[in-house]
Amino acid sequence: MAERFTGSFTQQEPIPEEAIAAALGVMRSGRLHRYNVASGEEPEAAALERDFARMTGARYCLALASGGQAMAIALRAAGVRPGDRVLTNGFTLAPVPGAIAAVGAVPVFVEVTERLVIDLGDLEAKIASVGAKVLLLSLMRGHIGDMSALLRLCAEGGVTLIEDCAHTMGATWDGRPSGRFGLAGCFSTQTYKHANSGEGGLLISDDAEFMARATMLSGSYMFYGRHPAGPEPEIYERLRYETPNCSARMDNLRAAILRPQLATLGERVARWAALYRSVEVGLEGTPGLVLIARDAREGFVGSSIQFRLPGWEGPRIAALVARCAARGVELKWFGAAEPAGFTSRHDSWRYAPAQRLAQTDRILSTLIDMRLPLSFGLDDGRLIARIIREEVAAAAHAAA
Ligand SMILES: *Cc1c(COP(=O)(O)O)cnc(C)c1O
Repeated sequence: MAERFTGSFTQQEPIPEEAIAAALGVMRSGRLHRYNVASGEEPEAAALERDFARMTGARYCLALASGGQAMAIALRAAGVRPGDRVLTNGFTLAPVPGAIAAVGAVPVFVEVTERLVIDLGDLEAKIASVGAKVLLLSLMRGHIGDMSALLRLCAEGGVTLIEDCAHTMGATWDGRPSGRFGLAGCFSTQTYKHANSGEGGLLISDDAEFMARATMLSGSYMFYGRHPAGPEPEIYERLRYETPNCSARMDNLRAAILRPQLATLGERVARWAALYRSVEVGLEGTPGLVLIARDAREGFVGSSIQFRLPGWEGPRIAALVARCAARGVELKWFGAAEPAGFTSRHDSWRYAPAQRLAQTDRILSTLIDMRLPLSFGLDDGRLIARIIREEVAAAAHAAA
């Protein structure tokens, strides 16, 4: 009998008891809104901002309603205006071009490489030809790439870097935390990321004026003085009259759920590394299957794994996905004709002008992606790899 996997690829771990207790405390207080504070009390949202600023080494942190809101607010606070072009990766998730569109700007997609990082040659060419002043770099699936080369290109082209760190919370490049390479880093605490509050976002930066604008945009009313991880109140003197309130605050309940999770992020990152490795080792040497090479400087978080099936035709990949699904292994394919679930592509985002991305399309047409939730153990990782390995071999056999 063929082995079957019975775990759920969308099942995260439960919220830790300490976080549940903290959430109950907030609910008993009735003070869920971040600016509803009893005298002498530090609200959970403000404490979360302090915690995350300390963790990442950023001067400032702002807690928001989602990762998408963090990106849209960051773009606007960085001075992006309607009609401006904003560079971003051709391979990313829908909230990234969505955030660009939310500020009325136009996404310009940059090709990705076979390592699933932004193509620096195409980036350089597009910086020169498009005249964009901002790059919203999506560290999609935690692939980081050569950040020093990227920073050089941005500096030469006068391009401001904003990092989308939805998949790199807890990751580093050359020892430096992801999100600390440009003007700002945007994180998500949505259920499928590295800390889970259902929805949520965190924005970090060292730039006082940028963060003051972002705080006003988030909807701070005139309570910006209640941001211990925010800039000095003096900087708001002029800004506070000029910056609209877009109401995208995080509440104390979500912040309470997140703080104990941030405190144990390092431990989860280590477990993800072991789980990733259990799958990777099981897939190594599978004929026809190419794993994604990682740069030694990349301290990535193994919350998902990708591989390529170069030369495979669409129907054969579709058959592999179906056969793995029948054995309980849920693979995502970015090459299907229609976007399903989380697999939309640049050509699904038709509010943006159609763009030619021959290299990205070629890579995505044979790219497989798989979630690795921490509800899986190492034996699960090994079993999943065995199933994929067998089905890849069976598909190759069928084609021969
Ligand atoms: C999840 C995600 C985001 C942010 O998503 P929200 O659901 O808005 O928190 C941003 N970028 C990528 C690549 C993502 O996967």
